[in-house]
Amino acid sequence: MSLSHHETHAFDVCVIGGGMAGICAALSAARNGAKTAIVQDRPVFGGNASSEVRMWICGAHGEHNKETGILEEIQLENQYLNPRGNYSLWDGVLWGKIHLQPNLTTFLNCSCTDAEMDGQKIVAVKAWELTSQTWHKIHAKLFIDCSGDSILAAVTGADFRTGREARAEFNEDIQPHQADAKTMGNSLLIQFRHTEEPQQFIAPAWAYKFESTADLPFRINGVNGHNFWWLEVGGLQDTIKDAEAIRDELMRITYGVCDYIKNRAPERKEAENWAIEWIGALPGKRENRRYLGDHILTQNDVRDGGRFDDIIAYGGWSMDDHHPAGIYFPGKPTIFHPAPSPYGIPYRSLYSRNIPNLLFAGRNISVTHAALSSTRVMGTCALLGQAAGTAAALCVRDSRLPRDLSSGAPLRELQRTLMEDDCWLPTLTREVSRLARQGTVIGGGKDAALLLDGMDRDRKDEGHAWEGALGESVGFEWSQRVKIDGARLVFDSDLNLTKGMPSSYPSKKGAYSLPGSLVKAFRLEALDDAGQWRTVFRETQNHQRLACVPLATEARGLRFVAEETWGNPTARLFAFEPLDRCSVKVPAYPEGDTFSEVRSKISAKDLEPAESVLLPKK
Ligand SMILES: Cc1cc2nc3c(=O)[nH]c(=O)nc-3n(C[C@H](O)[C@H](O)[C@H](O)COP(=O)(O)OP(=O)(O)OC[C@H]3O[C@@H](n4cnc5c(N)ncnc54)[C@H](O)[C@@H]3O)c2cc1C
Repeated sequence: MSLSHHETHAFDVCVIGGGMAGICAALSAARNGAKTAIVQDRPVFGGNASSEVRMWICGAHGEHNKETGILEEIQLENQYLNPRGNYSLWDGVLWGKIHLQPNLTTFLNCSCTDAEMDGQKIVAVKAWELTSQTWHKIHAKLFIDCSGDSILAAVTGADFRTGREARAEFNEDIQPHQADAKTMGNSLLIQFRHTEEPQQFIAPAWAYKFESTADLPFRINGVNGHNFWWLEVGGLQDTIKDAEAIRDELMRITYGVCDYIKNRAPERKEAENWAIEWIGALPGKRENRRYLGDHILTQNDVRDGGRFDDIIAYGGWSMDDHHPAGIYFPGKPTIFHPAPSPYGIPYRSLYSRNIPNLLFAGRNISVTHAALSSTRVMGTCALLGQAAGTAAALCVRDSRLPRDLSSGAPLRELQRTLMEDDCWLPTLTREVSRLARQGTVIGGGKDAALLLDGMDRDRKDEGHAWEGALGESVGFEWSQRVKIDGARLVFDSDLNLTKGMPSSYPSKKGAYSLPGSLVKAFRLEALDDAGQWRTVFRETQNHQRLACVPLATEARGLRFVAEETWGNPTARLFAFEPLDRCSVKVPAYPEGDTFSEVRSKISAKDLEPAESVLLPKK
């Protein structure tokens, strides 16, 4: 007889996998109105970016190109709550974002293992929750696979491919002449912490002995801030089937490299005061099954800039194609083939060509191996996740399937929604609100007309922000009173500032402070019929780039007044628009419950001292 529990659930959208793609997919689906579940097989969210793997979130190269939307929101929240870049606090930021999101249910420590089908359609997935010994059956209208390894391809018959394409198949000159099953490998990472005194490291007997630089060519360049991504094996095996054997090999390699750095490397003097802060136990994975969608993004699409009509996200990392032999390869561990930044990614690469209610996002989208070598970075994966989640919510609202959104009005709505939610689509311009277009721009500062250009970031040598001294205002006036439901504002969070977590802890590394350009305190004022400006909204602790403010007011004018930034003497604003209809998607986070209130809900009987304490003393 089995003692395990069984529970059945029904959702609109079920997201499998809680890496950066899955997090953004789940949050955007829930925020856009779908009753959503996220199933994550680890105790924390973040995938390769979590404290369990500790990989940097990278994205598009180049000035002003950083990914925004939910990723920027999360990273700014992290800088606010976690200014010293502590990984446990980062896990907490991710958990909080998901936990406090209305419309979203979390299944942590819960591994999706199977699916129930009705013909080609997925009806439900089955998942095992390790901690509670519970089988969950989760029904949904749409599924988004963000598991990296495409678990739903293994159990639904969804078309996918693995390995490297032959050069001739898509005319990709960075691919091998013959197709093969080789991939990029898995890695365990190391973090060091600088201390004030020498730190010894004795290698366990099972660690490999790296004897000289000849064993690690092109790999180590100091320990200060070093990122050990090249501790990589598994590309010659199957990174799913052989995952456990690959982990064991990585353990021997990783401890061996610690031993080498501390005890034998030419850099060992520099490393003398560095202590080993952390060594991973869960290998990060780079590549395995890639789904096949209506479009397969190729190296040439990337090189041509990805000018797709159905653009829903962009990439901009080089085609960073690791050698499949990883650390066994004595040459350079990767080749950075140039890619333009940004290049567009089409929606047709995010849904299955043969399973009609399946979307995907992250490193498993419909791309060739060559294109994956660029699209796999987590900044890009986060944008793909937000696009897939938003698409799923629109499908649910209108009873459509993912393919129905690939053209025409449904596609335009998807693109518009993403841009309103602060995702940049490089070949498109966001339409500013009717009230902004019909108003007269008023106020001081510089370049107020830029508030109407639909561009929410600077471009190279081209500013797109209104700029004003603290105390200065900018806004709109109308010839008569208008109804204003709310306002949308986009502040300057400095898209050239690194917002990632550290790969090691140097002694003097400063705090991860919020960008000085970001507005901290501001107020909105409405103009009444008597010509008086009165405050209708005030914020004193803003730490976000996008703000949607409900107002529900009538006025002849609306203006923004900058009060304080996180450091700079001037405030910058990419967008400020009064709205006819304002939908506030990011929840207002409640004050935490007081513990005494929580305790007061527990019955007095359960709070009696333990019986042994009541025994009379002898
Ligand atoms: C060592 C290393 C270095 C890298 N360097 C960088 C870098 O510097 N910058 C960068 O941006 N990217 C880097 N990458 C690439 C990047 O980390 C991945 O491409 C990216 O994490 C993919 O994001 P994802 O959300 O698709 O998947 P993941 O981050 O892998 O997240 C998927 C999540 O789904 C969960 N999951 C899997 N199967 C199931 C299941 N059956 N049920 C429930 N949950 C499941 C996994 O546990 C995981 O948490 C690196 C990767 C590695 C391994």
